[in-house]
Amino acid sequence: MSKPRYWLIVPAAGSGQRMKADCPKQYLRLDHQYILDITLSRLLDNADFSGCVVAIRADDPWWPETAASSNARIESCAGGAERADSVLSALEALASRADDDDWVLVHDAARPCLHPNDLERLLTQLQDHPVGGLLATPVADTLKLVASDSNQVETTIDRRHLWRALTPQMFRCGALRMALKAAIASGYPVTDEASAMEYAGNVPCIVEGRPDNIKITVPADLALAGFILSRL
Ligand code: C5P
Repeated sequence: MSKPRYWLIVPAAGSGQRMKADCPKQYLRLDHQYILDITLSRLLDNADFSGCVVAIRADDPWWPETAASSNARIESCAGGAERADSVLSALEALASRADDDDWVLVHDAARPCLHPNDLERLLTQLQDHPVGGLLATPVADTLKLVASDSNQVETTIDRRHLWRALTPQMFRCGALRMALKAAIASGYPVTDEASAMEYAGNVPCIVEGRPDNIKITVPADLALAGFILSRL
C-alpha cells in the first residue's frame, strides 16, 4: 500500500466581525504582509503538502491582492456559510485527487503564529494514529460558569481536564468528509473538525501545542501576534 499523502486546507471565508476592522481579520497586515499569507507560508515552508486549498468568500475583494493567490502551489475554492461548510467545500475540491486514507490538515487563516516544532510534533505523533487529532493546550485560567442573563457566577469549573482546541487539526480525508457531511445535515454545531469527528463516533487525539498559537479574534490580538512572530 502506498504511503498516505498530506493535504492542507485553510478556511478563510469568515467575516471576522469581532475584530471590528474594515476587512476580515485574515486580511489585516503585519509588517506589510497579509495575515493569510503569513499563515500559509508558516505551513507550506515547514511541511511537504501534496496540495493546498484556501476557502474564500465568493465576493472577497482582498484575495487577489495576496501573495497566495498567485502561488501555483495554492488553489482557492468558494467557502460556505459556516466554517464547517467552508472546510467541506475545500475537501470536495480535493476529492478527485486525494485518497480517503490521505491526511488533511485544517488550519485557521487567522492563526499565523504556528511554531514549526508544533507542526512537526503533530505530524509525527499522529502519523500512525487510526483517527488523527489536533493541537491543543491546557487551560491555564480558573473557569467560571456565569448565568446567561446576569453577571452572577453559578459555579467554578474543574479545569484539570480542560484543553483549548487549536489548529492544525489532522484527520483522514474520507473520514472527515463523511463526518462533516453528517454533522451539517443534522444541524450539529461544528466549531472545529474534531467536534464533527467526535459526533461521528471517533475519538481524536490531543497533541500538546504552544499557547502562543493564537487566533486573531479581537483588535488586541494583532499586536500580540506581531510580538509572538518577532520571537519565533
Ligand atoms: O470565526 P472563527 O474565528 O471561528 O473562524 C475560524 C476560521 O474559519 C477563520 O479562518 C475563518 O476565516 C474561517 N471561516 C470560514 N468560513 C466561514 C466562517 C469562518 O472559512 N463561514
